[in-house]
Amino acid sequence: MKKIIKNGTLVTAADTFQGELLIEDGKITQIGSNLSAVGAEIIDAKGCLVFPGGIDPHTHLDMPFGGTVTKDDFETGTIAAAFGGTTTVIDFCLTNRGKPLKNAIQTWHEKAKGKASIDYSFHLMISEINDDVLNELPQVIDEEGITSFKVFMAYKNVFQADDETLFRTFVTAKELGALVMVHAENGDVIDYLTNKALKEGNTDPIYHALTRPPELEGEATGRAARFAGLAGSHLYVVHVSCADAAERIAEARSKGYEVWGETCPQYLVLDQSCLEKPNFEGAKYVWSPPLREKWNQEALWNALKSGTLQTFGSDQCSFDFKGQKELGLGDFTKIPNGGPMIEDRLTILFSEGVKKGRISLNQFVDLTSTRAAKLFGLFPKKGTIAIGADADLVIFDPNAERILSAKTHHMAVDYNAFEGMKVTGEPVSVMVRGEFVVREKQFVGTPGSGQYLKRAKYNTPLAESERLSI
Ligand SMILES: [Zn+2]
Repeated sequence: MKKIIKNGTLVTAADTFQGELLIEDGKITQIGSNLSAVGAEIIDAKGCLVFPGGIDPHTHLDMPFGGTVTKDDFETGTIAAAFGGTTTVIDFCLTNRGKPLKNAIQTWHEKAKGKASIDYSFHLMISEINDDVLNELPQVIDEEGITSFKVFMAYKNVFQADDETLFRTFVTAKELGALVMVHAENGDVIDYLTNKALKEGNTDPIYHALTRPPELEGEATGRAARFAGLAGSHLYVVHVSCADAAERIAEARSKGYEVWGETCPQYLVLDQSCLEKPNFEGAKYVWSPPLREKWNQEALWNALKSGTLQTFGSDQCSFDFKGQKELGLGDFTKIPNGGPMIEDRLTILFSEGVKKGRISLNQFVDLTSTRAAKLFGLFPKKGTIAIGADADLVIFDPNAERILSAKTHHMAVDYNAFEGMKVTGEPVSVMVRGEFVVREKQFVGTPGSGQYLKRAKYNTPLAESERLSI
């Protein structure tokens, strides 16, 4: 079925212009004005922006953590993502030491199969480097198209890798053409501080934040950046939460190191005081890195505006308050870490960023879609409006006003971290490869229609002009 989108304002990471799109066989085949095609359905986007579907480079769907599993799986998670204007997610495939990587990847394929309503891909967690892993990684890249590896510097005795493993991952990734993503917090010191807090009887949710201070995120970020530089490799720092870490990234980039940074909606609009909410409600805001003192928000906005941070992920990792977050009653270390973020990612950046004049509309598209497509080997099939690109599109009403709430969201989880927040802007219709998944705010997609995306090898997208500007 051919479609023509008329009367909208087209927005890419580079341009904003009035134009029409012709969509055939799931792809954009013409961009222009007065387009016509026999049998084409006309879609009126009057008063709306039309931009490339969001790419969420950071989700945890159907993920086990701390004796429980995230509430949202690939079915509910991708439906909620679509309502929020996201058309591709890249989820983290967790691996187990001593077990073949292919088993873990197979497990993740099974989680998504028959459930995803939007397209998806996987990053691969690296927790050890040995001959078995080194032998397997070329197939991971060539056969599975998984070209990004994740290393945890925190969660001691669970996910945490040591410095040798991290450094060797940088070396290996450079040889193979993959991008290394790092959760940057100093897990050893955090382990000491959390044990000390518990011994002293400090068990409330706020101690989650107080035992993971920003210095430890800054330190780990700087350490990872130096390792990347020393290895001549490249680094993507996930969920940057504070000024200290953003400064370490800026410093590394000024030295010419290829370091990229991501932040998430929660760090821009929520702060550490949320963890002090009464009746254990602070547990709703427990994730890592933790929420920071409010003054960090301005530093993050400046980092987004200046290009020190280039992407905007959700770090979707949802647990119900009832029955799941409550596992940590009386011991904050047992609160499952994570929050429900996948649905409101674009709207929050639009409402708080574009509408409030902190970033431009084109930066918004770059942050939510285009840059992730480039860094993670999906561009130009995904992440832009161009002839030949997949017709992954959002028709977005920039003036709609609404209140974010668990009562109206589509995530399976029983609370919304942004409950009661007034926002401007709303995705009206969302299509993946030319087919509506959400139409006029109604879900019309099909679980299982999402396709697995094999991604291209990492290829430095740091253009000469960007090198000069940092
Ligand atoms: Zn995460």
